[in-house]
Formats: sequence, structure tokens, C-alpha cells
Amino acid sequence: MHRFFSDSGSDALLEILRQSGDATAIYTGPEFRIQFVNDAMLTIWGKDRSVHGLTFNEALPEMEGQPFSDILNEVLNTGKIFEARDMAATLRISGNLVTSYFDFIFKPIVNAEGEVFSILHTAVNVTERMHAWKLVREKEDREQQINEELMAANEEYHVTNEELNETNNRLIKSISQKKELEEILRSSEKRMQDILETMAEGMGITDINGQMVYANPMAQQILGLCESDIKDRTFDDPRWQNLRLDGTPLPSEEHPMSVMKRTGRPVYDHEIGVQPPNREVFYISINAAPIFDKDGHFAGGIATFTDVTARRMILQGKDDFISIASHELKTPVTALKASLQLLQRSHHKLPDEARTRLLSQAMKSLEKLSQLIADLLDTSRMEQGYVKPERKAFTFRQLLEDCCSDLIQQTDVSIVFEGDVSKTIEADPQQIGQVVINFVTNAIKYAPGSKIIISAETTEYNELKISVIDQGPGIPQDKLAHLFKRYYRTDYRGQKFTGLGLGLYISAEIIKNHGGKIGVESEISKGSRFWFTLPL
Ligand code: ADP
Repeated sequence: MHRFFSDSGSDALLEILRQSGDATAIYTGPEFRIQFVNDAMLTIWGKDRSVHGLTFNEALPEMEGQPFSDILNEVLNTGKIFEARDMAATLRISGNLVTSYFDFIFKPIVNAEGEVFSILHTAVNVTERMHAWKLVREKEDREQQINEELMAANEEYHVTNEELNETNNRLIKSISQKKELEEILRSSEKRMQDILETMAEGMGITDINGQMVYANPMAQQILGLCESDIKDRTFDDPRWQNLRLDGTPLPSEEHPMSVMKRTGRPVYDHEIGVQPPNREVFYISINAAPIFDKDGHFAGGIATFTDVTARRMILQGKDDFISIASHELKTPVTALKASLQLLQRSHHKLPDEARTRLLSQAMKSLEKLSQLIADLLDTSRMEQGYVKPERKAFTFRQLLEDCCSDLIQQTDVSIVFEGDVSKTIEADPQQIGQVVINFVTNAIKYAPGSKIIISAETTEYNELKISVIDQGPGIPQDKLAHLFKRYYRTDYRGQKFTGLGLGLYISAEIIKNHGGKIGVESEISKGSRFWFTLPL
């Protein structure tokens, strides 16, 4: 065993070390016997002076399993200084195992031969610093963690942001596409609306239950109802007062919309009558087509319709005309046949007077017949535009003398002339004569017993106006507009007047061809004034 610091100078040095605040111990020999330990070191160890002289392991049994004995051995064997920072050591202090941290040095002390005979151990308790470091590290760790979390969140945020951006772009794109589509839709809707509103046909749409849901302006005009009134009804609402063509009420199941719904197929050009409350019956031709939804189920119907009253009236007039014409032709033919048969069978037995009467009756029937045939021929020539006036200059007096003298002689009706009949006109005398004869014969026929006035006057427009005036029963106002139409005849409460209803039509055509005007004024039970004008 080496003596350590044997002289008094050394003792003084040891004393300095003992009192030093730096923890110091000196171990000697391979067992690391504690040769010296100061109070500062004992405080660290949590031991008292009794450890002096014990080996390292004896003094600090709790160090077993910790690396210090090994390090001491290493220093002893290699002679190399060992320095440590912040190294943990667990020591039993006041009965408790306490881990503290130390900066320490194991410094080998060598003799003159270069052998290590002692190890100087100095230590500083850096637990506080370690704690501070630990706190700093923990804080740094936390910050790091927070930073990492923040970075991850930031990353996520970036990704999300990018996704959002992308979604936003897609959204903007799809909004602009939607806007474009809406614009296309709007303009096609507008086009459709314009078509529906300007269409010459009425159009109504019904839902699956037959309830009207739309009616275009023409439908409102034809039906004489506003859209809200129409939408208040089903297609077979009894308020429409729909009729069959024979005038009987139209049952719901016969309505073209019902037929279409029942069969699921379109119905074309089906005519029905409509009797509105305060109007005359009118006729419409309906096309009914089904509407199917995307699954092919019946979803409603579209009805387009036109007012065909005029067409129907012409057809009706033609039908009436054929029956009237047959009847009108049959009457004189029967009379003619009867007269001729009688003459054929018994002319040699009949007295002269009777034969003359039969012959004149036959002649009258023949004349009547040829008049009817002439009217028919005139009408068909008029329709084809073949009747051109052959104009000549004549005075109205001459015309009346030529055409009316026979008529005046044949009838006991008084016919008087008024006004200026000496004016010269340029016209077709035969055709104008026909118009005057027609007016006069009508007055004789429809105003029996009345005086007839034929008047001529010059109008402010330099025309000659001829009127035939009677004091007969007159004509209802609502009929006046129709008198000059083809086949039109008024019904005189069962009174039977023969005629084809062509005379006034032919007259109107003649006057029109002469560039004149024709008309009638009439008042019930006061009489009528039929007139025409010719340019002078
Ligand atoms: P028609 O005499 O062959 O019936 P018209 O065309 O000459 O045909 O006359 C048309 C209709 O006008 C007649 O059916 C008659 O009802 C009416 N009418 C014509 N003239 C008179 C008149 N002077 N007074 C009353 N009704 C008349």
C-alpha cells in the first residue's frame, strides 16, 4: 500500500481538499479502498465518515449493477482518465434510493514507475442542471412534437386545401356548366313558350286525372275563357257543354281525350260542338295525344284544337242546300209532269180553255225550273270567276224599263220609282238588271202586300245608289250579316218560301265585280231596304 501525502505539506493539502466544496474522494489499490473522502462527496453519497477506509463497493453497496466499479477498473488498468457528464448514479440516501446526475472525473494517479496507485474522484452534482435540461428537453420535445403535429396538421391542411381547391374548381366548373345548361334550358323554354303563345291552334294540357294544367292564349280565345277558369276544369267538365255533331250532349267516354286515355293512342281531327252559356254553338276539331313519363306510364294528355265552325257551317249549308235544291227542283218538275200527263192523256177531250191553262201552267213550271237551273249555273260560274261584266253605258231608267216592265205587269204589287233615274252608268245591263229583279222579287216574296219603292240617288262619293224598299216583316239583326252568303236562307217561323238562298249571293258577286258595294238595312215589322252602289 502506498502512503499518500506523508508529509505535513500533504496533510495541509488534504485539509484543503476536505474543506473544498468540490466533492472529492481518493481510492487506492485494486479494491478501491477509500483513502480520502471530503464532506461534499459524503453529502453526495448520503454517507458519513465511517465509510473512510472501506472499499468502494463496501461503502456504496447500492452501486452494484451500476457501471462505476467497471469504470474504476478500466482507469486502473489503462491509466487513462475518465470524464463523464450528466451521468446518472443511484445512491441510498436516508434509506431511499435516489438517482442523481453527475459530472465526474476518475483521474489515475501514477507513481514514479508509471503505475496507477490511486484514483482521484471529483464529482459535481448536476441533477438540478439535468432537471433543467430535462425540462428544456421535454419542452423541446413537446415543442418538437407540437411542431411535428403542427407540420403534420399543416401538411394535412395543405392536402385538404388542395383538395378543397380542386373541389372548389370542380364546383366552379360545374356551377358554370349548370348556368350554361340553365341558360340553354331557359332559352329553349322561352322558344317553346313563344311557339305555344303564337300558335294558331289552341292547346291544352291535362294531368293524369284529366285536370287542365295549361291552356295557351289561342285556347283561351277559342273557348272564351281565361286560363285560370280553364285550369279550374277537367277536360270533361259538364260546364263545357260539349255536344256531338247531331247536337246531343257528348258523353265523357266519347270525348277524344277519354278515347286517347283509354287506348293510349293519339286521336286525330275529332269534331265536337261546344255550347257556351251566352254564345252560339261553335265547333272544334281536336287532336288528342298522350304524354308518358320516363318509365312509359301514362302521365296526361295534350289536346290541340282549331275552331272549325266556318267549315262545319259550309258543310251544313251544303247539306241543307242539297236537300232544299232537290225539293225546289222537284216542285216545278212535279207540276210540269202533272200538266203534261193530263194533256197527253186527254188533250182531245179537254176544252180549249183547259188546254191553254194546262199549257201555261207547264210553261210557268218550266220557267221556274229554268230560273233555278240558271241560279245554280250562275253560282258555279261565279265560284270559278267566269262572270265578267260586259260594260255598256245606259241610264237607270232604260234598265228599269227593260227588266222590270214584265215584272210590274205580272204583279198587282205597287212599285214606285223615286230619285234621279236619268243618270248614265257604265255597267253590264243584263247583270245589274238581274240584281234589281232579285231585290224586287224578294220584296214581293218576303214582304207580301207591301208597296215597293225603287230609289236612285247620287252619293257624296260619286256613286249611284239604288235601293229597293219594302214595308214587310223585316229581318232580325243577327241574320243580316249572313244574307249575302251562299245558300243562306232565313227561317220565317214555319212560313214556307221557296228559293235556293242564292239570289243575294249572286247579286253580291255581280256588284263586287263592278267595283260597287251591296248591303241591307232592316227593322223588324217596319221593312227592309236592300241597296247597292255603282261608281259613276
Ligand atoms: P232565296 O230568296 O232563294 O231564299 P236570296 O239569297 O234571294 O235567296 O235571299 C236570302 C234570304 O234573304 C231569303 O231566304 C230571305 O229570308 C231573306 N230576304 C231577302 N229579301 C228579303 C226581304 N225583302 N224581306 C225579308 N227577307 C228577305
